[in-house]
Amino acid sequence: MTSFNDFGLVEPITRALVDEKYVTPTPIQAQTIPLAMQGRDVIGIAQTGTGKTAAFALPIINHLHTKRLRPEKKACRVLVLSPTRELSGQIADSFRAYGRHIRPLAIALAIGGVPINKQIRSLAHGVEVLVATPGRLIDLVNQRALRLDQVEVLVLDEADRMLDMGFIHDIKRIVAMLRKERQTLFFSATMPQEITKLADQMLRDPARVAVTPQASTVEKVQQRVILTEKASKPALLAELLKSEPVERVLVFTRTKHGADKVVRGLQNAGHAAEAIHGNKSQNQRERVLANFRTGSLRILIATDIAARGIDVDGVSHVVNYDLPNIPESYVHRIGRTARAGAEGIAISFCDYEEAPFLRDIERLIRMAIPAIDRRTGQRPAHRPAQQNAGNRNGGRPHRNGHQQRGHGGGNGGGGNGRHQGNNGHRSQAPGNGHQGRYPSQNGQQAAPRAEATSGEPNGIGNVTFLQRPNEPRRNAGHRTQS
Ligand code: AMP
Repeated sequence: MTSFNDFGLVEPITRALVDEKYVTPTPIQAQTIPLAMQGRDVIGIAQTGTGKTAAFALPIINHLHTKRLRPEKKACRVLVLSPTRELSGQIADSFRAYGRHIRPLAIALAIGGVPINKQIRSLAHGVEVLVATPGRLIDLVNQRALRLDQVEVLVLDEADRMLDMGFIHDIKRIVAMLRKERQTLFFSATMPQEITKLADQMLRDPARVAVTPQASTVEKVQQRVILTEKASKPALLAELLKSEPVERVLVFTRTKHGADKVVRGLQNAGHAAEAIHGNKSQNQRERVLANFRTGSLRILIATDIAARGIDVDGVSHVVNYDLPNIPESYVHRIGRTARAGAEGIAISFCDYEEAPFLRDIERLIRMAIPAIDRRTGQRPAHRPAQQNAGNRNGGRPHRNGHQQRGHGGGNGGGGNGRHQGNNGHRSQAPGNGHQGRYPSQNGQQAAPRAEATSGEPNGIGNVTFLQRPNEPRRNAGHRTQS
């Protein structure tokens, strides 16, 4: 499909797409929309930035328009489950934008962190589309403000993140409340075993569509890693913010506590910085994000979960203050810069304990990231993190299927970046410490680590990442709720 007109979408939708200036469907849209319009269940493997929201929203709105039914009281016809408040808000905005010429089209948002009463009121007369995070959805059902027996279409977005965030039981509870005759559209950036199992339970004869975004994001971003001691990271960050031509920088930490610590350190060094993470109220998060979007805040510190699904234009730099222990998270993180073909720079700090994470990342992205060695001291004699490494997940439940990865032969060659399980422990190949491979050479650029790519095919998906507009799209004047 090369044009949105080829799908047979109703005219009010194609008109909205003209308003949105969408000309060509993205690969995930080209694959998903025809299947979803036939009523098929779909498993879509795609991440934020590939246009996946429209891939499910357009056929859904088309269905709602062609099969007009008055929603029953306290019921919804379409339920979209998403892991975070921010992503839920963006999805609801997208439904509003694509459905702006269709009336009535009631779209409600049910997310935690804001008072529940307004949400209860917005559901009283029933809605066409409800976008929700799992916890708040269950609260609404428990308070008898919502019934789920009328759901015709279920969307599960970012299923792998749901698993990461410990929502799997909530999801199963919610699915058990839905009727069996429904369409299910299931999206996940990755398909670890647990997610495949969940999909098997939820979907009927699903069609599978996939875009492989990882490496294409990676290709557009100029990446660097700075080998450093943990204790030097605060000073290194402050120094970078002075030396780099930073327009807007997103700094990732692994934990909420870590994020707050970085903010304090930067503020002490005279930089205005703020953090978003799960402990901040919804209002705080929205205020900080709005400031970041407008550019009045230049430095934003975030955890992976808080940053998920947030698309802000003009992020010139991503700094991985802590390296993620899940290699796919690295790709998600650096995908926040270099959107829509823009140039982006990703700088990662890697201390001794994080060396195994770096190795996993390089295997996944199938390239060696150029390194600068800024280590000054001796490597610690004991490296307790080697035992702990598999457990550095910000206190969150482990992501099954990703943790249990070994490190193969240790010379970085071989395979497709996926490793065999080794009983759930992250361990380095004997006698092949990462530090040994990159002898200290203060301040100098180490040679790119070509061995990590040796023998690798450059089998990289060709997926374009798209930008979200700076301001959320609003369509005033018709029946929408939040
Ligand atoms: P998503 O992956 O759904 O978060 O979409 C990322 C961004 O791409 C959003 O800002 C969308 O508005 C935009 N977008 C989605 N589909 C298209 C398209 N076919 N053409 C241009 N922009 C698009």
